[in-house]
Order: sequence, then C-alpha cells, then structure tokens
Amino acid sequence: MNRCYTSLISPLNESLLIMTASGFIDTYRHQGLRRKLTELLRYKGIHDEDVLKAINAVPRHYFFDSSFLEFAYEDKAFPIGSGQTISQPYTVAFQTELLLVKPAMRILEIGTGSGYQACILAGMGAKVYTIERQKLLYDKTKLMLPKMNFRIRPFYGDGYKGLPAHAPFDRILITAAAPSIPDELIAQLKVGGIMVIPVGEEIQVMLRLRKISETEVASEQHGSFRFVPMLTDRAKDI
Ligand code: SAH
Repeated sequence: MNRCYTSLISPLNESLLIMTASGFIDTYRHQGLRRKLTELLRYKGIHDEDVLKAINAVPRHYFFDSSFLEFAYEDKAFPIGSGQTISQPYTVAFQTELLLVKPAMRILEIGTGSGYQACILAGMGAKVYTIERQKLLYDKTKLMLPKMNFRIRPFYGDGYKGLPAHAPFDRILITAAAPSIPDELIAQLKVGGIMVIPVGEEIQVMLRLRKISETEVASEQHGSFRFVPMLTDRAKDI
C-alpha cells in the first residue's frame, strides 16, 4: 500500500517511532539536536524529568516552515506568522515545570500559536484545550495538530473568556503577556488547581497561582520574562 503515516506512537517513548509523511521527517540529526537542546535545558535549571522527556520527544522542527528548520533546536523564540512567535524552548520547559503536570489532567492553554506548547503538555499525558485568537494561526495549527496524534482540542476565540463549557480545569497556562490576572479564568480553575501566567506590560513576572478555595488564590513569583501581549477579542487576521 502506497501510504505514509505521520504519528507519534507513544509520546514519551524514548525510541519514539515516527513514521513520516512529506514535511514530517524526524532524522537522526534532528533527534541528536533535540537531545542536545534537552541537555542545555537541564543545564539551565530545568529538572523535571517528565518535562525534559517531552522536550526530547516532540519534534520542534515540525512547527517550523521548512526553510527555517535549522533554527528549530536553538534555545530561541522564532516568528510563526501573524506577528506571533513560538516560545523559546527554555520558556516552554519552565512554564511546563511550574504547572506540575500529571497524566490525564485537563489543561487549558491560552495562546495556541504553533501548537508546540500544547504538544509538550499532551506529550506528558494531559488532555489539552487550547485557544488562539488569530484566525490564520488557528487554521494552520488546527490542520497540523491531528498529525501529532495527541489529545488536543484547538479553539478559535478570545482566551480572556476561557472555555466555560469545558471548565473546570486542573491547570491553566497562559502563553502571552497578560496585563492582569483574568478573573474569568480563575473562575474556570478547579479548587486545588494551578495557573501559570506571565503578568506585566513590557516585561512580565511569571506567576504561579494556586486556587486554595473558591475565594482564595495564593501567588508565587518565578522571575521575569518577555512574551507577546495577550490581546482582547478574536482577530479576523493578518
Ligand atoms: N504557545 C505558543 C506560543 C504562544 S505566542 C506556541 O507554543 O507556539 C502567544 C499566542 O497567544 C499568539 O499566537 C497570540 O495570537 C495568542 N494570543 C494573544 N492574546 C490571545 C487571547 N486573548 N486569546 C487567545 N490567544 C491569544
């Protein structure tokens, strides 16, 4: 049968079997570069082995246009169109580590972008709901995500509103700079749940919030970062 498959058979299997279709080829070179990136993140202070395994398992170059493949395993953010970026691997790993992800958790991500962060969460066994406000990015990523065979449901909408129909969530991750903590999203977090959110204008403070009760949230600060802004409403696009 003349047919190609694209799938991550078992997300965290080290000897990940990736059968390829055009554009989705994970060569030994890519795998080697990914191992190096994983070690670099370990050296930079990421110590959650499950996070490192997911970084090592998910081919980041699948999220790049083919002409930019050589940038995929640098520890840098990179443009993905519509004025947005795929986050720096260190930032993805750092936010994921703060989130304390366990298999089968229901996680809401705000800012789908390329879908890479969503795949890291899903690669750790989570069920991921992710919202993007840029239509072109949403359309592009929605087409690409099924090829990864993860449990990810993409939505086109305004992340400030969350997904009340699917709430409450065990975890909420915001991957754009929020001017303040959105109340509607706190309301969609389970009691005992965790939200990781960069808050601020030019530079953001990474906050880890724990919802202690229906009315109380505890907050911890985890350093400074720089994200693209979390904007209101859906964008029709450019
Ligand atoms: N997590 C992404 C990178 C995020 S970049 C990845 O792994 O590639 C931030 C994304 O948040 C951008 O795609 C931007 O369009 C989106 N965004 C900004 N404000 C938003 C909002 N209110 N609702 C949903 N998405 C938003």
